[in-house]
Amino acid sequence: MTLPTQADIVVVGGGIIGCSTAYHLARDHKCSVVLLEQGKLTSGSTWHAAGLVGQLRSSASITSVLKYSVDLYKHLDEETGLATGWKMTGCLRLATNQDRWTEFKRLATTAQSFGMEMHLISPEEVKRMWPLMDVSDLVGASWLPSDGQASPSDITQSLAKGARLHGARIFEDVRVTGFEMHRDRIARVLTNKGDIACDKVVNCAGQWARQLGAMAGINVPLQAVKHQYIVTEKIDGLSPDAATVRDPDRRTYFKEEVGGLVMGGYEPNPQVWETGLPGGDVPDDWEFRLFDDDYDHFEQHMTQAIARVPDLERVGVKQMINGPESFTPDGNFILGAAPECHNMFVGAGFNAFGIASGGGAGWVLAQWVVEGEAPLDLWVVDIRRFSGLHRDRTWVRDRTLEAYGKHYTVGFPHEEYLSGRPAIVSPLYERLQAHRAVFGSKLGWERPNWFAPQGMEPADAYSMGRQNWFPVVGEEHRHVRGAVGLFDQSSFAKYELEGPDALRALDWICANDVSKPAGRLTYTQLLNSRGGIESDLIVARLTEEKFYIVTGTGFRSHDFAWIADHIDRSFDARLRDVTEEFGTLSLMGPKARYVLAAVTDADVSNAAFPFGHVREITIAGHTVRALRLTYVGELGWELHIPIGATGEVFDALMRAGAPHGIRPVGYRAIESLRLEKGYRAWGADITPNDTPFEAGLGWAVKLRKNTDFMGRRALEQINGAPFKKRLAGFTVDDADMVLLGRETILRDGKPVGYLSSGGYGYTVGKNIGYGYVRNAEGVSDDFLTSGQYELVVATHRTPARIHLEPLYDANGERVRA
Ligand SMILES: Cc1cc2nc3c(=O)[nH]c(=O)nc-3n(C[C@H](O)[C@H](O)[C@H](O)COP(=O)(O)OP(=O)(O)OC[C@H]3O[C@@H](n4cnc5c(N)ncnc54)[C@H](O)[C@@H]3O)c2cc1C
Repeated sequence: MTLPTQADIVVVGGGIIGCSTAYHLARDHKCSVVLLEQGKLTSGSTWHAAGLVGQLRSSASITSVLKYSVDLYKHLDEETGLATGWKMTGCLRLATNQDRWTEFKRLATTAQSFGMEMHLISPEEVKRMWPLMDVSDLVGASWLPSDGQASPSDITQSLAKGARLHGARIFEDVRVTGFEMHRDRIARVLTNKGDIACDKVVNCAGQWARQLGAMAGINVPLQAVKHQYIVTEKIDGLSPDAATVRDPDRRTYFKEEVGGLVMGGYEPNPQVWETGLPGGDVPDDWEFRLFDDDYDHFEQHMTQAIARVPDLERVGVKQMINGPESFTPDGNFILGAAPECHNMFVGAGFNAFGIASGGGAGWVLAQWVVEGEAPLDLWVVDIRRFSGLHRDRTWVRDRTLEAYGKHYTVGFPHEEYLSGRPAIVSPLYERLQAHRAVFGSKLGWERPNWFAPQGMEPADAYSMGRQNWFPVVGEEHRHVRGAVGLFDQSSFAKYELEGPDALRALDWICANDVSKPAGRLTYTQLLNSRGGIESDLIVARLTEEKFYIVTGTGFRSHDFAWIADHIDRSFDARLRDVTEEFGTLSLMGPKARYVLAAVTDADVSNAAFPFGHVREITIAGHTVRALRLTYVGELGWELHIPIGATGEVFDALMRAGAPHGIRPVGYRAIESLRLEKGYRAWGADITPNDTPFEAGLGWAVKLRKNTDFMGRRALEQINGAPFKKRLAGFTVDDADMVLLGRETILRDGKPVGYLSSGGYGYTVGKNIGYGYVRNAEGVSDDFLTSGQYELVVATHRTPARIHLEPLYDANGERVRA
């Protein structure tokens, strides 16, 4: 077969991800697809994978992607005639301590929330299922019966055959060597065997994906790491149907293979694969190759595994596999449309669960490529979750190694990474340190989470229950409700959109009406074509032709790219990221006006400066953009200050606020304050899976205006129809419960949804959660209020009360919990 000179879509990489993507592009979308593989199919990471297939993740969408993989592997041979080796053995996860056991209880509840069967079982039951195991140190185990194992090469060959059956053309021994670019688009794929003109490229190049991406100017922040496992000789008494086992407290995993065991692990001291500089490129030629066996490094796993399965001491090792795999700084894979190039999509960085993800990742990626939109909420894996920081290879390497080392550690709530910090600091960093700030990091920015009082160590002490900061954050919360607090929110992403067509552009992109006069703010969602919420932000109209847009720290690349992608190319409107040009201080609380009035000559009375307005005011000799809004439910202003003047303005506010008891306040208090007020958090309560109607944000949609906007058609179709789900608030009186999100909502004893976010409201004195209540026949007010509710919290049922209104109102007087 000769290489074509033209194709709609070129997929680069013949591992499981490339083959699955090509299969779905051809099967579901009938695309003209060419797949290019530099060696033979599977010859990168895929051929040497161990083949464990787990499904449960903390995101419902990613769990559904992995469930899809299993469904595909079960039946693919019926279509292709090539078996995938799928065996539904189930998976045991072992717990040897109470923290791990609590983690499993929460996991079991998450599984219930996502409609998966998961049981918690005793050590005796584990012993019955897996007689070769020493269970003497176990507290118990979780048992997920629908997990299993498969043969990575067989799945991939079966997918490749399926892709060919549906018309895809697959070429081995063809290396992509570069791209011919027309501005920010790939026009041709250049290879060692000829060039191909194409519309779109899908980068499924495994650990080479970063290097391949760089050829088109895009950043794929991943790091190749060496990962080892052994395959043993036959072990007497090991059932061919033995469940796969994950023993996280001993950092190891097991799987049956031809009568013996596959055993590998995640060590705290992983070894990178790099050449030259830190994070340096991996070599092109690595077809079906492995690293030398490294028993010294592997000994730590061997010791732990023998303690768990003593027979391992007596059985020979048939083979050691020491192969490379790409890992990422947050342990999630990388999918979607690259922000830097208009027609390159990525599916890479699978963190040793590429076999489990392969089927589903190919399915959603194919749809993303064809439609230009993710088919569901894939935010946690979206390539647009990264930023410029992730171009720093040393940073990516160090953070990735930390994430690898944490693969099997207990996941404590609110845990922060430690490596590569501080990366980005606001001008207030030293000042906030002097106030004993305990920082967290978001997209590289150091942000104060809370402030330790004198006599208390300024550090998080993690635990599964209430953590050391809990009462301190309560004080911060009450301070904002009762007096005034100052939040450093300089990490907010900020853009300016300017030009004669700026309003026309935003009119199309925003669901709410932004055509208000200069000086006004608009809170708006940006919707996808399904009416799902892609973003949630503030648009301030500064002049007729200039808009200032403010969004969350983590959404910087995503929201910028979404806006840029949806500006008509013929429009005269320039979008600029101005994040680093402005520091942001939020002055919030009933006494905020006294403080602001003391530092500016501007009239900040309610009449002169009402809610929802933006003004330029002078503070300490600097022109500041003051936005009258709140995310905490109190009187307040967000002050956007020329970055170099942030410190001076902070000092002026602290001085002027002293008589009113002003103090700096951290992000954990914001979370508690916003939960009481019922403000939705994007990525949790509102996502691309949810419409504004379902989220209770229909009031922020300009359906009554005769303006077309992105998502309008989809909303019109569902407007007036019964809701299938609706976001509601819940409170739980039992103070011992800890709500984190994903707890199951029971209505009259039956599961109807799960919490999208959870926390504690110090003013109402209760645990607060938000979650969608689902009902195929419709979710009316009556349906919501007529049920008796409980929440399942770490497998424990606790009574809950539903709330359709905020728990706290603007004056802080009426509390409805
Ligand atoms: C020891 C080990 C054990 C593992 N165990 C498991 C497990 O039990 N379960 C699980 O789910 N996952 C496991 N994994 C992870 C799994 O192997 C990977 O996540 C998965 O194979 C990644 O597939 P891929 O298609 O992204 O990458 P690859 O399989 O590496 O495919 C990428 C392909 O792109 C090709 N390519 C690169 N550059 C170019 C170019 N310029 N031109 C043309 N072609 C190019 C490469 O040759 C390669 O074949 C394991 C990994 C290792 C290392």
